[in-house]
Amino acid sequence: MTHLKGKTALITGASSGIGAATALKLAKAGVKVGIAARRADRLDALKAEIDGQGGEALVLELDVADPDAVRSGVDRFMQMFDVIDILFNNAGVMPVAEIDQFKVDEWNAMVDINIKGVLNMTAAVLPHMIRQHSGHIFNTSSIAGRKVFGPGYTVYSATKFAVSAFSEGLRMEVGKKHNIRVTSIQPGAVATELPEQTTDPEKRRQLDDYRAAITFLDPDDIADTLLFAAQAPAHVNVAELFVLPTEQI
Ligand code: NDP
Repeated sequence: MTHLKGKTALITGASSGIGAATALKLAKAGVKVGIAARRADRLDALKAEIDGQGGEALVLELDVADPDAVRSGVDRFMQMFDVIDILFNNAGVMPVAEIDQFKVDEWNAMVDINIKGVLNMTAAVLPHMIRQHSGHIFNTSSIAGRKVFGPGYTVYSATKFAVSAFSEGLRMEVGKKHNIRVTSIQPGAVATELPEQTTDPEKRRQLDDYRAAITFLDPDDIADTLLFAAQAPAHVNVAELFVLPTEQI
């Protein structure tokens, strides 16, 4: 078993939902966390909560789509903590709308954040992990990165398929060569703020109806699975975590 106490983790999308829950759980397990997102007020509140529990957190206000901001955020993390044991590439957006509405700005935001954000952060962190000859990278894909969900989810699914593919290829490239583990997390429906970016009223209503129809996962459920994989013995790479609400088809 890998002990987490004293390790370090950088978590993107830490201002709410899955990222915030995971940062809290890791901090409780004794991990020093860098918490990254755009909403600094949320990150400050999370840091206060972690500090109050005797943990250690560094606020990194940044946009994962901006390579310069990502690089300087990782530099600050390394100045503070010296080592990076875990990277959780979790920031993402899901504005749902059908293609013939041509919400091109939303398509671009999904590509820039969900795909390029993962690439930007990986490019900034990987040289440190290679130098250390150790590390664990988690990428949040989705059930939508395994199957196309249906009308409205086309571009989102395309971005999450990209995250799944990148995770698997990265795992092959850095496992044996650099002793770095890579885990693709593929959650089903989780109760978070994610639906709030959907501007199409009909799709938003469908999302709200689905939330009422089944018992969603809690963000803590996903955090628990990440901790399970992070604590696996060093020779074990849990390559995929496909975690669904029991009622989800
Ligand atoms: P939330 O909306 O609660 O969290 C999304 C997080 O991403 C926020 O912290 C947000 O912070 C951050 N974020 C968004 N854009 C950027 C950006 N440009 N730069 C930095 N941070 C950014 O939703 P979830 O917790 O549900 O989402 C987390 C991940 O889980 C996403 O990748 C999502 O696609 C995935 N997922 C979610 C599922 C669900 O059912 N909820 C199912 C499967 C996967 P801020 O706005 O402050 O920048």
